[in-house]
Amino acid sequence: MTARKIPLTLVTAPEIGVVLGAPPMLMASENSVDYACGRCAAVLLHADEGQVHGILIRCTKCGSYNSTDA
Ligand SMILES: [Zn+2]
Repeated sequence: MTARKIPLTLVTAPEIGVVLGAPPMLMASENSVDYACGRCAAVLLHADEGQVHGILIRCTKCGSYNSTDA
């Protein structure tokens, strides 16, 4: 079984709130969806679709900020 891969939405600057760094990939759930950096496509988060809201993930590969909210 292959997880679906969904690109996250790039944001220009961190907003107030939680900012996480990945990779290493964040595991919020098993056997669900891979969320990828919107710029370099590195997998940042493994979670159920619609599970994670309101956090920013800073890609440690390219330095982009990705929002979990579309
Ligand atoms: Zn990236």
